[in-house]
Amino acid sequence: MTVMNEPMDLAFDKEHIWHPYTSMHNPLPVYPVESADGVRIKLEDGRELIDGMSSWWCAIHGYNHPELNEAVKSQLEKMSHVMFGGLTHQPAIDLAKLLVEITPIGLEKVFYSDSGSVAVEVAMKMALQYRFATGNFKKNKFLSIKSGYHGDTFNAMSVCDPVTGMHDIFTGVLPINFFADSPSCKFQDEWDEQSIDSIRCMIEKNHEELTAVILEPIVQGAGGMRFYHPEYLNQLRAICDKFDVLLIFDEIATGFGRTGRLFACEHANIEPDIMVVGKAITGGYMSFAATLTTRKISDGISGSSPGCFMHGPTFMGNPLACSLGIASISLLLRSNWKQNIKRIEGILKDKLSSISEDEKVNDVRVLGAIGVIEMKEAVDMADLQRKFVDKGIWVRPFGKLVYLMPPYVISDEDLNFLCESLINIVEC
Ligand SMILES: *Cc1c(COP(=O)(O)O)cnc(C)c1O
Repeated sequence: MTVMNEPMDLAFDKEHIWHPYTSMHNPLPVYPVESADGVRIKLEDGRELIDGMSSWWCAIHGYNHPELNEAVKSQLEKMSHVMFGGLTHQPAIDLAKLLVEITPIGLEKVFYSDSGSVAVEVAMKMALQYRFATGNFKKNKFLSIKSGYHGDTFNAMSVCDPVTGMHDIFTGVLPINFFADSPSCKFQDEWDEQSIDSIRCMIEKNHEELTAVILEPIVQGAGGMRFYHPEYLNQLRAICDKFDVLLIFDEIATGFGRTGRLFACEHANIEPDIMVVGKAITGGYMSFAATLTTRKISDGISGSSPGCFMHGPTFMGNPLACSLGIASISLLLRSNWKQNIKRIEGILKDKLSSISEDEKVNDVRVLGAIGVIEMKEAVDMADLQRKFVDKGIWVRPFGKLVYLMPPYVISDEDLNFLCESLINIVEC
C-alpha cells in the first residue's frame, strides 16, 4: 500500500532488505528514489540526479520512455505471462527474429532466460552438453581470462576473475577452471603479438580438457573495466578452431551499441559459437537475457541422448520482457546510434582527459559510451557517493574505478555537467 506524502521507511530497509554486495550490520546509505525520467533520477526529497550509470549498463534510452512504456502497456492488456513449455507467442518470435538478424552470422538458435547470470549458466551448459553428445566427457573445463566478470551464480562465479571477480571466498567450493592472463595489449595500442601468448599456451597445454573459452569481448566490465585489442579475438578464434575449443562471448555488458559497435565482437572480424546478451536488451525495464548459438551446437545437443537441452526456467520467454526487447532494439536501430555513441565518446574523451595528470589518477580511458577513471588507491565509496549526490549526479564507483556509462539519450549539456562535476569531486 502506498501512502502519499509519507517518507519511505528507510529504517525498515536498513534492518530487513539486502542490497547488492552489502552488509546487514553496517550497510552503506541508500538514497530513496521517487521516480526517474529521461536521464534524471528523482530522489524522494525532490533532488534530481543526472544518471551516469544507466542502472548498470541497462537504461540506454533513459527512464520512463514513452515508446517502451507503450510496449509494455499494450502487451500487459493481452497477457503478462504464460508458461513457455508447450506454448509460444508473437513477442517471443519477433524478438528472436530481431536477435538472429542483428547478432553475428551463424548465431541462429535463441534460448531465453531471466537474468544475465542464468544466461551464462545456459551458455556453459550448452557447451558441455554439446561435448557429452559427441561422447567426449573429458572436455569439461572452461578457460577464461583474468579480470573477467560473468555473474553471481555458481558456474558463472567459477569463470569470474579468481581475485577481483568478487567471489574469491568461494574458490574452495567452485568448479576448478583455467585462467589466462588478461590481454595486455590495450584497445588503442599497436597490436602486440605477445598478448596472446598466455592464452595460447594454456589452450595448447590443456585443450584435451577444455570445452570452451568464455570471455567478455573487448571490454571487461565489473572485473576491472579494461579495454583490449580486437586482434586478440581474431587470434583466439583461430587457436580455438585449431584445438576444437568452443568460443563463448559474454556481451551482457557490451551489447546493444555501448562500445560503438552493435556488439563488441564486431570490432574484430570473427563470430563466437555461443553468445550471451542481457542488461540493455529490455532498455533497462525488466530482467531478461538470451543465449544464442549455432546450428552446429544445437544439432549436436539435439541429435544425441537425451535429445534435448536440459534447461527451462519458469519465466522463460516472458511476453512483457520480449515486447520490451523488441521495442528497445527497434528504438536503438531506428536512432542514429553510431553517430550518437561517437558524440558521447568525444565528450567523455575531451572532459575526462583533463584529470589524467592528477597525482591520484593511474589511468583514464574511454571507449564508446564508457569512460573510466582508474585511481591509484581504492576510493571511499560512501563518501564519494554522498558528494556526487550533493552535486546532482548519480555515479557509483567501486574499488579504484570511477566510471561513467550514461544513457545514450543524454544531451551534450547534461554530459558536460556530469563529467565536470565528477572531475571536480574526484580531484579534491
Ligand atoms: C552483469 C553481467 C552479468 C550478470 O548478469 P545479471 O543479470 O546481473 O545476472 C554477466 N556478465 C557480464 C559481462 C555482466 O556485465
